[in-house]
Amino acid sequence: MIVMKFGGTSVADAAAMTRSIGIVEGKLKQKPIVVVSACAKVTDSLYGILELVAAGKKEEALKITEGLKQRHLTTAEELGAGEEGAAVVLARTSWMSDFIEKHCGSPVSDMDKAHFISMGEYMSSGIMCHGMNARGIKTTWIDARRMVITDSEHMCGTPDMEKLAVATKAVIDAEYKDVDAVITQGFISSTADGEPSILGRGGSDYSASLIGAAVDAARIEIWTDVDGVRTADPRIVENTVGISKLSYEEAAELAYLGAKVLHPLTMEPAVPKSIPLFVLNSMNPSSEGTAVMSKSCIFDGVKSISYKENIKVISIYSLKMIDTPGFMMKVFSVFANDGVSVDLISSSEASITVTVDKNQVIDKVVEDLSAFATVRVNDDKSQISLVGKNIIGVRGLLSKTFGALVDHKIYMISQGATYLNLSVVVDRPELRTALCRLHKAFFEN
Ligand code: ADP
Ligand code: ASP
Ligand code: MG
Repeated sequence: MIVMKFGGTSVADAAAMTRSIGIVEGKLKQKPIVVVSACAKVTDSLYGILELVAAGKKEEALKITEGLKQRHLTTAEELGAGEEGAAVVLARTSWMSDFIEKHCGSPVSDMDKAHFISMGEYMSSGIMCHGMNARGIKTTWIDARRMVITDSEHMCGTPDMEKLAVATKAVIDAEYKDVDAVITQGFISSTADGEPSILGRGGSDYSASLIGAAVDAARIEIWTDVDGVRTADPRIVENTVGISKLSYEEAAELAYLGAKVLHPLTMEPAVPKSIPLFVLNSMNPSSEGTAVMSKSCIFDGVKSISYKENIKVISIYSLKMIDTPGFMMKVFSVFANDGVSVDLISSSEASITVTVDKNQVIDKVVEDLSAFATVRVNDDKSQISLVGKNIIGVRGLLSKTFGALVDHKIYMISQGATYLNLSVVVDRPELRTALCRLHKAFFEN
């Protein structure tokens, strides 16, 4: 068995779905479990509708829903998904309109929100399923909620690995009979009580590897819109080069440090079972892509450069810090108690500087730290990270890095404890230039 996950752009419209179905068709002998995202940008629209619902803007919410209905109906028709394909769209969008009527202007629970957000994947997977059947690929549609079980954090569930493994195996064993393929949704899950939950943005990659690990898949394929993982984000940097092999650790580090191509948790379920993971391009299926595997097969060195465009840098000063045992603990207990997770850390005798993601709410942390230290927050900074196995051993690592950034102010430097990354913080308006200069220094000579 193999898992084949198709991201939003790979199922964006009928043409993309046709290409993706063609890729699946070529692999039927390997018994594919197809996992799909919502059509490109649909999840963004669904979050947008929820905001309109909260603001009581019913007409606007219904108008966007109507747009989604027409878009999916067109996709279903052009794909040849027949009346059944259209019926999926009509049922889901009619449910959405009822939801908007019922909840507009009143508070919506996280469980209901998760249910609403799931509609993107429900529609894309339904249309694809009927499109596959119309092409003679006998396919069964499976509700991912029967397999991917999480805790009760509805909007960003943490998988319950044991329950998930048992449920997924049982469902796949039961449904993979007399068919060529099965199809399910990424991103969608349910709590142990059967309530709707989701895995958080970009979570379909994670779904694919959770399902793959549960069924001991021979491989997990992540089909996206780039020729595998590259030396930098090709949307920002020209002349990027494809990376043929990465270790699980390198791929996870890159994703944690901002490379959107994979969800950071994707590698986790694959590691214990050593299931190889491939990042491939559904628009260019013959390109080699990237194989993600165990680190013994991977050479040392800088593999790629990732970035986070918008981070917050928090600087904490206190003269009391000098020679005071437990000061660090005091600082980091504040972050822990206030539920803010820290990315990079650097410290001197009287100061600690940390970076946190732009989405983290830090008002309480700042208030609590200010009780015993001077705190400064700067939110117009970007983080750039060089990532690769044992990069510490790369000859000239620092001279190349600083040489490339000689014209830039560097606010912070941090080297990961596992020698997987070297990160710097620069002014946000300079991100693109700094990134391109670093890429040139490491990959373009
Ligand atoms: P999908 O919808 O298939 O999940 P995503 O948009 O989530 O696709 O991820 C693919 C995108 O990741 C690419 O279009 C690219 O812009 C971005 N990306 C960021 N860093 C990298 C990188 N190092 N290599 C390849 N793509 C990257
Ligand atoms: N559709 C979801 C999102 O846009 C999940 C995914 O595509 O991975 O976040
Ligand atoms: Mg993605």
